[in-house]
Formats: sequence, C-alpha cells, structure tokens
Amino acid sequence: MAASSLLRSLTRHARSASAYYHHRPWSPFSTAAAVAAAGARDEASKGFAGLGPTAKGEKARVVVLGTGWAGSRLMKDLDTSGYDVVCVAPRNHMVFTPLLASTCVGTLEFRSVAEPLARIQPAVSKSPGSYFLLARCTGVDPDAHTIDCETVMDGEKDTLESWKFKVAYDKLVFACGAEASTFGINGVTEHAIFLREVHHAQEIRRRLLLNLMLSDIPGLAEEEKRRLLHCVVVGGGPTGVEFSGELSDFIIRDVKQRYSHVKDYIHVTLIEANEILSSFDVRLRQYATNQLIKVSNLFSTFIVISFLALRLQ
Ligand SMILES: Cc1cc2nc3c(=O)[nH]c(=O)nc-3n(C[C@H](O)[C@H](O)[C@H](O)COP(=O)(O)OP(=O)(O)OC[C@H]3O[C@@H](n4cnc5c(N)ncnc54)[C@H](O)[C@@H]3O)c2cc1C
Repeated sequence: MAASSLLRSLTRHARSASAYYHHRPWSPFSTAAAVAAAGARDEASKGFAGLGPTAKGEKARVVVLGTGWAGSRLMKDLDTSGYDVVCVAPRNHMVFTPLLASTCVGTLEFRSVAEPLARIQPAVSKSPGSYFLLARCTGVDPDAHTIDCETVMDGEKDTLESWKFKVAYDKLVFACGAEASTFGINGVTEHAIFLREVHHAQEIRRRLLLNLMLSDIPGLAEEEKRRLLHCVVVGGGPTGVEFSGELSDFIIRDVKQRYSHVKDYIHVTLIEANEILSSFDVRLRQYATNQLIKVSNLFSTFIVISFLALRLQ
C-alpha cells in the first residue's frame, strides 16, 4: 500500500462526505458583484455601509463566517425558507482537504478538490436576502449584533483598494477554522509553503515541475541538481505523511518515466520532532512508519526518507 493511501484509509469517514466532490471550476466574479450589490442596496436604503438589520416580518439572517468543512456543512442543511444566509469568507469555495496532497503532484486536478459555495448552498447566489461576501471578518459587536468586514483583494491590490463594511446578524456562526502553526520556526512563513489551500497546492506543483525541468538543462552542476530536487517536508502529522507518500508515488511512477535523466537526483526528507502521526493509535503509527521505511529502502537510489529527532522549538 502506497504511503499516500494510508491517511486516506484512516480518514474514510471524512471522505465519505462526497457530496462536496465535483469536477467543476469556481469563480470569484459573482461574489464581487454580490458584495457591491449588497452594500449599495443597504447603504442607499438605510444609511448603513453594508447589510443593515433585518426588519420585522423579514426572515432572520444567519451570518456564517467561513466556507470550510464546518461552515459549508452547516449552510448546506440550512432551511432557507425560514432563514436568509449570508456567508462572509475570504474564499468562495470549500476545499476537500483530505485530497489536497494529491493535487500537488497531479494525481487529481485542483478543481476536483474545491466546491463553490453557490453549489453547496444555491440560495447565496439567487435568494434576495442571501449572499456570499468575499471578505474577512475583522471584528464582532455582540451588543449591536453586527460584524466588521473588509473585502479581500488578493492579486488586485494595485488596481483596487479594499474597503470596509458591516453586516448585521440575527444569528452568527463562527466557522473560521484555525491558523497554521509555525511552531516558532524562523523563516517558515517567508520561505516555506503551507498545504491548506488550493493555491498552496498549485504553488507546490509549480515549483516541483519547474525544478524538475531546470535540473534537466545540460551543464547544470550535480550539486545544484541535488539542491533543486531535494524536497523537505516539515511535520510528520497526517498532512506531512500523506504529502510525502504522494511525493514518493510521483517519484516512483512519474519522475522515473518522464524525467529519467534526473531521477537519481531527487530525494525527500521528512522531518518530525517526535513520532510520525503522533495523534494516531500506536498500531497505525507503526504501520505508517514501516510503510515509509519500506518505500525508502526499496527506492534508496532516488528517495531517502529521514526521521530526525529534531527539537524544533
Ligand atoms: C492537507 C490537509 C488534509 C487533511 N486531511 C484530513 C483528513 O483526512 N481527515 C480529517 O478529518 N481532517 C483532515 N484535515 C483537517 C480538516 O481539513 C480540518 O479539520 C477542517 O478543515 C476544519 O474545518 P473548519 O471548518 O473548522 O475550518 P477550515 O476548513 O479551515 O475553514 C475555515 C474557513 O474560514 C475562513 N476564514 C478564515 N478567517 C476568516 C475570517 N477572518 N473571516 C471569515 N472567514 C474566515 C477560511 O477562508 C475558510 O473558508 C486535513 C487538513 C489539511 C490541511
């Protein structure tokens, strides 16, 4: 069993929610229009920069922060005949995280692991009082029942200024997830790539392919080839282990065939401070370790997986 299959089998229940899994693209454009329309409508009618409080007799407004697993699941089942739903989040799609690692090496396409919110809860794109707003919540005023928001301008900073607005809520759901931890390691934020979002996976895939192709260019020093093709995965939790497994499969199957000139130069180092998959049952930990060691031994000519007892803090 390939290492990449390991975590997937352990998290079968997570993947069984395959209602989220469709092969369709997503687009942020309708979102920007919704923000503008929502802001303009309420600003004009109530002098409130954003969405003002609901009036008597109107449906109650449920404001959901986040389009992750929690927020999307909740919105999918929300009864929109009784509630308006307003989702505020910096991304307009849900990411099917258990399969994200597979997109880094091309086993799956990016659009296969992202589901637009409008498909999960269609009301946000067609019900008069429901919206998806591409913005980040920056504050909550529980007394006034409002949240402060700021639009997200990723990639558009030079042409468009972000702006602030408020949204009044009847019910507020926090589903903002958690921030990735660097465990205080210097330089991680600046120089490494996290693996949490589709754009992270895109960047990993881009760099992997770029370095493979650069290494193939004649005249490159051996040392430089090795440097370009040394992949270091920091963290032996589920994400690190699954990604290392995907990388191993990619090297064994694809690099060997498609980049055979440089196949002997690529290797993977997995760094873990403690034990790999430390939050899992001991038998699963042992199993995963054995699988990784097996892969490492079988293909030692071009893949090395190291377990370093390194204290990272
Ligand atoms: C690569 C990878 C593989 C994984 N594999 C598994 C697995 O196999 N099994 C498993 O059980 N778990 C797995 N997980 C963990 C699982 O993805 C998380 O537990 C889950 O995503 C948490 O859901 P959430 O809704 O709380 O947060 P998230 O899914 O992180 O969603 C948070 C949402 O909040 C939004 N947001 C953030 N800040 C703001 C703000 N200020 N205002 C508004 N919105 C905001 C974000 O854009 C996002 O839409 C994996 C995670 C990763 C990264």
